[in-house]
Amino acid sequence: MRAQIHIQMIDWASDGLPNGRLQTSGNGEISLKRVVVSGAAGFVGSHMCERLVAEGFDVLGIDNLLTGAERNLSHLSSSPSFDFILHDVTRPRDLPGKADFVLHMASPASPKDYMEFPIETLEVGSVGTRRMLELAQRDDAKFLVTSTSECYGDPAMHPQVETYWGNVNPVGPRSCYDEAKRFAEAMTMAWHRSRRVNTSIARIFNTYGPRMKLADGRVVPAFIDQALRGEPMTVFGDGSQTRSFCYVSDLVDGLFRLMLSSEAMPVNLGNPRETTILEFAQVIADLTGQKIKVTHLPLPEDDPKQRQPDISKARRILGWEPVVAMEDGLKTTIDYFRPIVEEELQEAMSGGGSRPQG
Ligand code: UDP
Repeated sequence: MRAQIHIQMIDWASDGLPNGRLQTSGNGEISLKRVVVSGAAGFVGSHMCERLVAEGFDVLGIDNLLTGAERNLSHLSSSPSFDFILHDVTRPRDLPGKADFVLHMASPASPKDYMEFPIETLEVGSVGTRRMLELAQRDDAKFLVTSTSECYGDPAMHPQVETYWGNVNPVGPRSCYDEAKRFAEAMTMAWHRSRRVNTSIARIFNTYGPRMKLADGRVVPAFIDQALRGEPMTVFGDGSQTRSFCYVSDLVDGLFRLMLSSEAMPVNLGNPRETTILEFAQVIADLTGQKIKVTHLPLPEDDPKQRQPDISKARRILGWEPVVAMEDGLKTTIDYFRPIVEEELQEAMSGGGSRPQG
């Protein structure tokens, strides 16, 4: 018989459990808790599923593989606690079994992906959020939606605190993502207020780590790929724009704590260490043992000039703090990408043709 878990909403700030681990009870009366995760095959979704299984939950992962990849879940495929359904959560479907938690994590998330799939992005943030909320209501489950720092747009307030309403261009190229997530937040609050569903909203800031797609256009895989190939790093604009990068295991720990909390209003999750993109290029060059080479390309429209989370709220209510130093997280990420880049280089040398997506 598998481990039995006793779940209760946890006051993280005072529980004194350093890893956020749950207390288990051995009386055998309480059944395993079941979590439905949309976007399970994505970068963050797959890490979240892994954490949940490691914590002893039963997980049903859902993904339509639009931007996710089944191989992200290969390490879970033999686990008796993990099931996967290939499904687009914007389409109706009566999901089997009862959910205790519903995590709506499905969405294209890199600017390249959501600009390629703007309608799908708007639909998964709107219709998809609605369907997942309906599931949570049907099963009386706790609901969590992964929102984004993009809700703050090109922020006039720095660092960004949850009470800031943002500065978003509603018709610009990033609007499909920003407005989808803002709508997802509004819909979540509506279900919370009028249907009494227990909900949480995570505003995720820039996150990186293994299982990002090499060619998804985001700055972390782009710079690592370029550095490992010995090519110039493509810095958009003059590189003075800032971001704050959080390692994926830190983010997942924050999401896990938020899932088990009763906080309904948005919570920022990100690493407050802020860096300019040019400084970031230098860090990656150093860690890959390369002399920095840079090509400046035009700054994309509506690219936020600065971004840094204020995580006082997460610290206070979740007892959460990112613990992975940027250099350590980047080393692990570079080690993940190195064989992938080497394989691509070898294929190219043997006339293997175009680069795969992913
Ligand atoms: N960026 C860059 N070169 C690249 C990719 C991105 O200079 O090859 C910049 C981009 O303009 C932005 C920052 O890096 O200012 C982060 O971009 P990313 O696409 O990773 O995420 P964003 O925070 O913009 O959603």
